[in-house]
Amino acid sequence: MLTATDPVLVTPKYLIYEGITIRKMPWFLWFAFNPKKRCAMVYNSQIYVSPKIFDFFRDRVQDYLSIALLQHEIVHLERKKQFSQLKRRWEYWSSAKFRLKEELLADEATMRYLKEQKLSFPIEKRAKKLSSALYLRFANKY
Ligand SMILES: [Zn+2]
Repeated sequence: MLTATDPVLVTPKYLIYEGITIRKMPWFLWFAFNPKKRCAMVYNSQIYVSPKIFDFFRDRVQDYLSIALLQHEIVHLERKKQFSQLKRRWEYWSSAKFRLKEELLADEATMRYLKEQKLSFPIEKRAKKLSSALYLRFANKY
């Protein structure tokens, strides 16, 4: 059963979760984000999720892993507000250490949420993903 804090469908095009607009990721990003998996990203002040996640929320399917991913992206959104856009972009593209730190901070939110739900964090899967091309293989450097 979904709770009051779960994402709410406002129109067929977007949802609201904790005051943040959630949209379906556009198809042209599917080369990088598999639409059949749980994927999400922050762009401007919104969170874009894969069709799999969007459809779960739209159909009010309880999926803790999708909510955990939203918690992760919310940390990215909050961190983004702390830096000027230019400085953040520069740090992101020039520093693997910065990218890793940002991901670990966001993963902490995921871990907290999953722990509240008495679920474990998929460490192996996450480590593999952080070592992938999507994350510019920065985890391999440490
Ligand atoms: Zn992230």
